[in-house]
Amino acid sequence: MPAKISKILQTLEPSATLAMAAKAKELKAAGRTVYDLSVGEPDFNTPEHICQAAVAAMKAGHTKYTVASGIPELKKAVVEQYQAVHGLEYAPTQVVIANGAKHALHNVFTAILDPGDEVVIPAPYWVSYAELVKLTGATPVIVETQQENDFKLTPAMLRAACTPRTKVLLLCSPSNPTGGMYSREELGALADVAIEKDLLVVADEIYERLVYGNHIFASFATVRPGLPERTILINGVSKTYAMTGWRIGWSISPANIAKAIADLQSQETSNPCSISQYASLAALQGPQDCVEKMLVEFAKRREFVSRRIAEIPGLSCAEIAGAFYAFVNIKQHLGRKLGGVRIDDSTQWCLELLDKKGVAAVMGAAFGAEGYARLSFATGMANLEAALGAIEDFVK
Ligand code: PMP
Ligand code: GLU
Repeated sequence: MPAKISKILQTLEPSATLAMAAKAKELKAAGRTVYDLSVGEPDFNTPEHICQAAVAAMKAGHTKYTVASGIPELKKAVVEQYQAVHGLEYAPTQVVIANGAKHALHNVFTAILDPGDEVVIPAPYWVSYAELVKLTGATPVIVETQQENDFKLTPAMLRAACTPRTKVLLLCSPSNPTGGMYSREELGALADVAIEKDLLVVADEIYERLVYGNHIFASFATVRPGLPERTILINGVSKTYAMTGWRIGWSISPANIAKAIADLQSQETSNPCSISQYASLAALQGPQDCVEKMLVEFAKRREFVSRRIAEIPGLSCAEIAGAFYAFVNIKQHLGRKLGGVRIDDSTQWCLELLDKKGVAAVMGAAFGAEGYARLSFATGMANLEAALGAIEDFVK
């Protein structure tokens, strides 16, 4: 008889974004033409000077264990960046370098949550949040937001979701999957409720450098005095520097939480890859024109995708302020027969779209928002042109 899986893992959903990306890769390997708009992974190569720094690190013998919570140089570079860009004063000991921002989030939730605690998560939310919270035995409290309001949580919605057990508010701005971003004023109004209700706020700001048009990013910790004491910032190099495979992200927390996370990581994984840490140091400290160049490309794709979605009958999406996703409303096409099959929900819609037209998108259901599909535009223009054409055909 196969061994029994633990109760908590029996309830764990695998990552839908990664599952869809794996499906797309499988079909490609089998010889099908696939336009992969599933995963949020920049298609650019990691900039050359960052790769060179990794080679230099290996040659210099940085191939051994490092301090479990990360090399002091990288923590210092992170702190200096927050000082320079946001005027925030942190000590390097408040930074824990992890194996990607996803791992940083897992560390944070493990460090601060007990069974029974509640975490308010506005939906649509990134696929991993609710699952990582559930792993601790705490309860994700999902608060639905509306497309008409750019999928933003309001102070009234937050207040209504709070109970005596609410410990954490989770915010992702710019947002995966909606591309929405809170203004400084909107964050301030949410911060007032967080202060009133004595909440910790986990602010996932991994897309902070990928912001378009006139939109201006504000880090949550800066919008009211005293917020760093109740804020945990999440960030990393994956998206900004096209470094998804290097697996470096970090959390910045109040000192006691950072200490708990560092202790956890020392037992859990030891340090993140030594070579990747030196490469990330070069990313933060080296020339930043590579980020600007990638942003120019993302901005062109954003224009194109927004325009094409507006042109296709029955599809719509909210304005994309940041990140590289379009969260497309497909509700008018549900309950219809498409490609000979009746389609009732976003999962069926995405599976049929992949099967019939070779376009890989991620079902809104995985982000807690039925009736939507997420398209990642972290892929080349030719791919996007073909994919949007195929989507247009599909819904016709
Ligand atoms: N947060 C958000 C909002 C994301 O979209 C991602 C994408 N993977 C992550 C965290 C994790 O990034 P990584 O683990 O690659 O640093
Ligand atoms: N965050 C990206 C996405 O949403 C990468 C995949 C993942 O880690 O979920 O597609």
